[in-house]
Amino acid sequence: THDQKTNNALVHQQDREFVFHSWSVQGALNPLVIQSGQGCVLWDYDGKEYLDFSSQLVNTNIGHQHPKVVAAIKAQADELTTIAPSTANHMRNQAAQRIVALAPAGFSKVFFTNAGADANENAIRMARLYTGRDKVLSSYRSYHGNTGAAIVATGDARRVPNEYARGHVHFFSPYLYRSEFWAADEAQECARALHHLRRVIESEGPDGIAAILLESVPGTAGIMVPPPGYMQGVRALCDEFGIIMIMDEVMSGFGRTGKWFALEHYDVVPDLITFAKGVNSGYVPAGGVIISTALSDYFNDKMFPGGLTYSGHPLAMASIVATIDAMKEEGMVEHAAQMGELLGAGLRALADKHALIGEVRGMGVFWALELVANRASRAKLPAAAMNTIKAACMARGLLPFIADNRIHVVPPCNVSAEEVARALAIYDDVLAKVAVEYTE
Ligand code: PLP
Repeated sequence: THDQKTNNALVHQQDREFVFHSWSVQGALNPLVIQSGQGCVLWDYDGKEYLDFSSQLVNTNIGHQHPKVVAAIKAQADELTTIAPSTANHMRNQAAQRIVALAPAGFSKVFFTNAGADANENAIRMARLYTGRDKVLSSYRSYHGNTGAAIVATGDARRVPNEYARGHVHFFSPYLYRSEFWAADEAQECARALHHLRRVIESEGPDGIAAILLESVPGTAGIMVPPPGYMQGVRALCDEFGIIMIMDEVMSGFGRTGKWFALEHYDVVPDLITFAKGVNSGYVPAGGVIISTALSDYFNDKMFPGGLTYSGHPLAMASIVATIDAMKEEGMVEHAAQMGELLGAGLRALADKHALIGEVRGMGVFWALELVANRASRAKLPAAAMNTIKAACMARGLLPFIADNRIHVVPPCNVSAEEVARALAIYDDVLAKVAVEYTE
């Protein structure tokens, strides 16, 4: 696939000349140059190969260039590339039907958006309209997207320069390894985090709270699988105070945790589910809100004041249908669960060997290695060491996902056992090299 007309240096130079990038000081950028991909593998314009254990922004759940999905997009392009959202279209119906069928009982309709941020934006809007209340509670350890309400619902530091939306309140969700609650075990962390949430609700005034928005497994914040009972506890608080529970499955959905939705791990049914990323692996930008019957019925005789030019875009819809069908036909969700066994065992074996690894956590193809300079103090491995780790992985042909002091091990759902073994060997080698320099 090597393109003779261009090369890494030229693509890099033109990028720096013309392209303005996300979340960056523009002058300090050094973007990775990529031309093409297949499955878990990517190539640059000079022919260098990378094993993609980032799934980009944790969205290519079916890997790159899945032939069935590429073919479906081409076929839809031949039939109808775009149509207004107010029309009815077979492919949109098929996509909505498939998504509703994967959701728990009690969900009946899908509102399609362009991505995850506007999915959360519209879920928040639905909750506010339905309850007649204003406030939205979400975790400090969260990312919900980069639009008006979604970025202010986000708990992480990206919220702070963007706080233009009102009515947002944050709380601490469970994170035993760095507990805010002096908890010694998961049961304590769970009970105290729920007590804290109850106190926040009471202190904010339950009658003014429209929604609690939570990632089913907080992803970007560090892949913190909640302790048993936490999500049930949040559901119970929502029921007690008449609050809408929104579960953000943008990153955790569509196979990432070894289930179609991560909420299946908890036996909890929210009122609204938001999705994007894995629904079509990002082949065409798409997201949406899965709406429970109570909320969708509410809008049967009331105006829903929201919409998007590309809501239910035909190319996105065709890619969703083909992605879900391919995932079913190829047993990708079950495969992700199996790879989770391999990854979990492999990463724990690395932790036995490397003192740099403070904690291993995750499920399916959704794991984090929390790296520390000192296991006793749990001091985070410094940014310089993380940069060294990233460069060393890349030099060995592995594209890692680095966030703060963590490596997120997040390959596509259809990663092979051989690719898992190859990646584990690279992490092993890289951690051994870095340990020499950075262990206290
Ligand atoms: N919600 C979660 C949990 C996410 O991880 C993300 C993106 O990383 C979003 C929402 C925002 O999605 P998008 O970038 O497609 O708007």
